[in-house]
Amino acid sequence: MPARGMYGEEFARGSIRAEAAGNRIAGDFYFAFGGNLGDKKALQELHGWRRYWKCTSLCHKCRAVKASAKADLSLNYSIFGDEAAWWATVVSHEQCVAEFDSPFVGEVEGYHIDLDLEDTLHNIYKGHARNAVGSCFGEMLLDGLLFPAGNLEEAMGNLDGDLRLWSRIASVRHTRHRLSVRALGWGKLDRKTMERVFPEMNSWWKAWEMQVLVPFAAHVALERGSADDHGKLRAVCLWGLAEWQHVIHCSGRRLDDDQRRRSKIAAAAYLLAYQKLAADAREAGRYMWHVLPKHHYFAHLARRTWSTGWNPRYESVFMMEDHGGRLARIHRGTHGETELRRLPERYLVGLAARWHQLAVALGARE
Ligand SMILES: [Zn+2]
Repeated sequence: MPARGMYGEEFARGSIRAEAAGNRIAGDFYFAFGGNLGDKKALQELHGWRRYWKCTSLCHKCRAVKASAKADLSLNYSIFGDEAAWWATVVSHEQCVAEFDSPFVGEVEGYHIDLDLEDTLHNIYKGHARNAVGSCFGEMLLDGLLFPAGNLEEAMGNLDGDLRLWSRIASVRHTRHRLSVRALGWGKLDRKTMERVFPEMNSWWKAWEMQVLVPFAAHVALERGSADDHGKLRAVCLWGLAEWQHVIHCSGRRLDDDQRRRSKIAAAAYLLAYQKLAADAREAGRYMWHVLPKHHYFAHLARRTWSTGWNPRYESVFMMEDHGGRLARIHRGTHGETELRRLPERYLVGLAARWHQLAVALGARE
């Protein structure tokens, strides 16, 4: 229990808080550092790494680089196979903290670079899954594999109908947003624009909606247009991401040997197929299958998942984003002049009520 109140005030003499001040109030329980959780931007602001997504050297964990005239292309971050040279440049915890003069070392007991956790919500569902699903639908639309082939908007409307039907059959919650040409990030229904802009599911798609769209896209890619080699590759790519998502969602805190093996095959299928699709698109001059730094960070995450069995599902910020939404709801009912004081107070009142409920449910002493 802290010695003073939230606003630095003295506790009233004789109050419960004054008596508890400075003492341990939770018996043998205490807080310990468990990890840093947040999007990459938050982690970057915490650490101030000199190698991050905006730099040519984009990763604090290895020497991978973006393609440029001066860069060593053998370290290209967008190569994902085991043969990628950057795997041999992965740095240890000690090298990393020494190189970047981490503010955590010596300050936070138990800190390790592996405890800067990659968040699947931002990495996958607000990240590269939007490109994978966007390219899958975008390419199939432009190649006339969605019907009617001549009418792009109507074809996307029909695909949306298929999504509703598939969701019902698969007992999956319907997405709130609907599939359309605009949903693919193409603002104009004009073929020229569509051929010059990478498709990417619009940012209005929530992370949970993307979790629905990934397996649906895998289903569509397999059912339609997987007759030729390119179509097969597209189907493998989406299957890989859907299977990886399925494995980590069906596994506990720690993946068993079979789940680890499946996650490894799925991640490799996804990343290697994506890499080939991106290379083919580049060669053909098509704006499809855009490769992002997030794919590279996902490669690190996927390897950590199959090598250690730690389930990244438990390290996502889904709950925190939900919490942010709750705070916003309290905020809406607070007067502007007093919000800084009232919002934490109301939150603490709600939290105390919740803990009380829990304690009663667990049969604890009132
Ligand atoms: Zn790296």
